[in-house]
Amino acid sequence: MDRIGFIGLGRMGRPMASNLRRRDFDLIVHDVNAEAMAALAALGAATAVSVAEAAARADVIITMLPNSAIVAQVIQGAEGVLSAARPGSLVMDMSTVDPQTTDAIAADCARRGIGFVDAPVGRLATHADAGQSLFMVGGSAADFARVRPMLEAMGSTIHYCGPAGAGIRTKIVNNFLAVSLCQLNAEALTLATALELDLENTLDVLYGTTASNGQLRVNWLQKVLAGDTSAGFTIDLAHKDLSLILDAADAVRVSMPMGAAARDAFSRARARDFGGKDFSAMLDAHCDAVGLVAPRLPAGSRHRA
Ligand code: NAD
Repeated sequence: MDRIGFIGLGRMGRPMASNLRRRDFDLIVHDVNAEAMAALAALGAATAVSVAEAAARADVIITMLPNSAIVAQVIQGAEGVLSAARPGSLVMDMSTVDPQTTDAIAADCARRGIGFVDAPVGRLATHADAGQSLFMVGGSAADFARVRPMLEAMGSTIHYCGPAGAGIRTKIVNNFLAVSLCQLNAEALTLATALELDLENTLDVLYGTTASNGQLRVNWLQKVLAGDTSAGFTIDLAHKDLSLILDAADAVRVSMPMGAAARDAFSRARARDFGGKDFSAMLDAHCDAVGLVAPRLPAGSRHRA
């Protein structure tokens, strides 16, 4: 059985690695945060003091890191994964990064006889906790077959999108809708608050028409509207994704006025210290910007049942 090196044990990586351990995968983990490593060690994972050690002692190296620069440094840097990984091993990056970073890593892996799969993750952090993530996978058929049992241990839905790079490109399109909807929702519910409308009645109407959307129906009910703005997927990471989306669109000469407006709104929220909150807290940021107290559903609300 392939031994897995798992690098990046944050809000997403920690439950994903934990679910691999629960299915008895042989795991060696690394994170710059020692506390994150200790949590996996408690589940029986080995720990590595460096990225290179994790790569040298594993057959498949999974990365789940914040952004393109960190992923490139961890995989391609002087003491990175590729400095230590053996020919015949495989790198699977599951982070959300720009497609150029993915393409450069895939090419570097190919030159060294190392397999490569990009498998960015859809759905929320709570789905990762429950092993119910969705994966968008790019890579050769053989590389996909090799990582498939690992993906099945971490998630419940797997979409094979095409060759290396197709997964991250699919993710870019997905996150345009998933993230931009936060800003549309924020404007709609801020307007409803300013118009002194009842929140529960307003939601009843919005859920019954074509205005309905998954952010409002699933994530917002569990997060901001229930008063929980702790980080599932942060405004900072969502802002990064909107920048990736606009850059990807720019590269193929596609204009995205709604995407640009949403990124600007997320930039303004970060400037006012909302960056570390869940992306549903765009509602709080927008209400704050116009001098309103953000609405919350009462504890016994039919929408919180
Ligand atoms: P996070 O910030 O919670 O976790 C990142 C982890 O990487 C941290 O534990 C950090 O210590 C570690 N790290 C940073 N630099 C490192 C380095 N040089 N070496 C080793 N470890 C390092 O982020 P997250 O929410 O887990 O997101 C990870 C990726 O998944 C991001 O690209 C994000 O866009 C994407 N994503 C997140 C969600 C979500 O809901 N949170 C959903 C889908 C996709």
